[in-house]
Amino acid sequence: MVKTAVVTGAARGIGLATTKLFLDAGLHVVMVDNDGAELAVVAESLENVTPHDCDVSDPASVARLAADVAELEIVALVNNAGLADFGPIEETTYERWRAVMATNLDGVFLMTQAFTPALKAAKGAVVNIASISALRASTLRVAYGTSKAGVAHLTQQQAVELGEHGIRVNCVCPGPVRTKLAMAVHTQDIIDAYHDAIPLNRYGQESEIAEAIVWLCSDKASFVTGQRLSVDGGFEATGIGLAALRS
Ligand code: NAD
Repeated sequence: MVKTAVVTGAARGIGLATTKLFLDAGLHVVMVDNDGAELAVVAESLENVTPHDCDVSDPASVARLAADVAELEIVALVNNAGLADFGPIEETTYERWRAVMATNLDGVFLMTQAFTPALKAAKGAVVNIASISALRASTLRVAYGTSKAGVAHLTQQQAVELGEHGIRVNCVCPGPVRTKLAMAVHTQDIIDAYHDAIPLNRYGQESEIAEAIVWLCSDKASFVTGQRLSVDGGFEATGIGLAALRS
């Protein structure tokens, strides 16, 4: 059987960078995304991948995916697909709230549940992608931040319950990265504020998040489970006044 990683939200951004690192490590990658057109184009340029047009928030779509790849040895599942929708509480309609929850939180639940039999068989690892917004509240993130806090706790639930089957489950909390998702919601003011508030004084790169994800999936992290790893240039460690203290 072919050692395989399943990566959701793989058509671009952090998911695509993670796909490329798994390929470098010699794994086959099932690339999952609901943007079938972008996925098809990018998959065409890569070897040793299987693209799957799948909406992780849709139970039937997820069940079809799991059945389609049942013959593969799934050693890693990266629940990375996500969407950001920033808005004030009073303007966050129930539809906007549900859309964020459906992909960011329901998707992680559904995918991990559907792949648990395969992960048990391979004693595989799961990495869920949350955010620094899971750990620290900010304005305009009532849906996004809450969905990501849910992902962080869901990770612990999964790690505790699935540990006896040899499945490790960890969570990566990225700081800001200049992807399509982030640039759609980061105004210039937000970009400047992040530069000031991050000890390393810059945005991260997709590949820097991917390195942490692939390490957590690897045997090098064989005794690590139930953890949240912030890959954020030190953002979580700071309090107020960093920019003022520097100058
Ligand atoms: P991105 O927009 O570049 O990529 C996200 C991918 O997920 C896209 O290809 C999109 O089509 C796919 N997707 C969205 N909804 C889906 C669904 N229901 N089913 C299947 N695929 C779906 O964004 P990114 O920045 O690479 O984000 C990846 C993850 O990292 C997300 O979970 C995001 O919340 C998280 N994150 C990103 C940042 C950042 O600054 N970029 C910071 C913290 C956390």
